[in-house]
Amino acid sequence: MQVVTILGATGSIGVSTLDVIRRHPDRFKVLALTANKDVQRMLMQCQEFKPDYAVMADKTAATELQQAIQTEKLDCEVLSGNEGLVKVASLPEVDAVMAAIVGAAGLLPSLAAAQAGKRVLLANKEALVMSGHLFMQAIRENGAELLPIDSEHNAIFQSMPAGYKTGTKPVSVRRILLTASGGPFRDADPDTLKSVTPEQAVAHPNWSMGRKISVDSATMMNKGLELIEACWLFDVGPDDIEVVIHRQSVIHSMVDYTDGSVLAQMGNPDMRTPIAHAMAWPERIESGVAPLDMFSVGRLDFELPDLMRFPCLRLAFEAARAGGTASTVLNAANEVAVDAFLDRKLGFTMIAEVIEACMSVIETQDADTLETILSVDAQARSVTQGIIEAKTAN
Ligand code: NAD
Ligand code: MG
Repeated sequence: MQVVTILGATGSIGVSTLDVIRRHPDRFKVLALTANKDVQRMLMQCQEFKPDYAVMADKTAATELQQAIQTEKLDCEVLSGNEGLVKVASLPEVDAVMAAIVGAAGLLPSLAAAQAGKRVLLANKEALVMSGHLFMQAIRENGAELLPIDSEHNAIFQSMPAGYKTGTKPVSVRRILLTASGGPFRDADPDTLKSVTPEQAVAHPNWSMGRKISVDSATMMNKGLELIEACWLFDVGPDDIEVVIHRQSVIHSMVDYTDGSVLAQMGNPDMRTPIAHAMAWPERIESGVAPLDMFSVGRLDFELPDLMRFPCLRLAFEAARAGGTASTVLNAANEVAVDAFLDRKLGFTMIAEVIEACMSVIETQDADTLETILSVDAQARSVTQGIIEAKTAN
């Protein structure tokens, strides 16, 4: 029996994870579930999965959940805040932690799981983007195991040589082909992008996901974050990775070997496949995903990405090449700009402009302590806020 904590249980990845667990009651035991504010969904999950702990990051939400848990007479300890998140990520009885909080908020609990030597199932790509060096060090030094949940990285991991371990340089690999759907605006006239609304941006053609990652997919910053994520997970440089637009989202990424072989992992675009793969690894279990019907897919297309149309992807390449805290700044500026866009305070094409302006004012330094990371993250957020206010003042 594998004992699991799910960070971000009420989100898109959290719900898919619980759906996989539901199919294997004799294999997984849910010890703790966490969320930010969604008390209703958390209560329903507690009723079904009977965790020993439920954590709400938000204190008011925690008080509300506590009352509901009492009314329902559930045997579950309610905790709150970052302390609660860190605690359930590192409890001695936990074997695996699904890290599926969105954004920088996921860093400390995901890092705590690494420091406690857990099997870390990493969906929270922002943690690696903002502090890849520290995160990988924590995994290595504490005997933790890092398995990628992001579909592309899970596909790359599945296509790596037998016995491959994340964080090590793969042998005989020429390059990694990171696939991208291109998002909802891959064919849009660039002149129309200025007036894109949050509703249009979150309507992804192939995947159903949380709001932030959906906007990231629309700007292609998601692929940029994934480029940096791949550099850390597979110990390669940004120029060892080629981004390939593949609109069908059937191939989830590929590995190109020195002998000319290219290995791909394919499947329907459903996150339960990488989740089930990582949860059961090295075994394979039923995930609930429908078998891939090659005949209805019909064809597979590949195109080069257009860095003029998608400046966020260019910015991520630049941050990856610069190293140090450049990607911490990229990530923080992106989170603030995407929030402002979702709040209708910033236009869609201004997301990239704001990030670029922030990156040009903050100098890159070594990203080797948590203190530096957190202070650069805070500085980039405040600089970005200032840029947004100046740009939208009239
Ligand atoms: P989501 O918005 O659907 O869910 C986010 C979860 O995090 C929720 O449970 C929410 O309560 C919690 N949360 C939000 N803010 C928090 C805070 N401040 N403190 C504590 N908890 C907080 O997001 P998602 O789409 O499930 O994505 C989660 C992560 O997985 C992201 O990093 C995303 O990039 C990555 N990811 C998602 C997908 C996908 O298909 N959804 C695919 C690949 C990677
Ligand atoms: Mg992905």
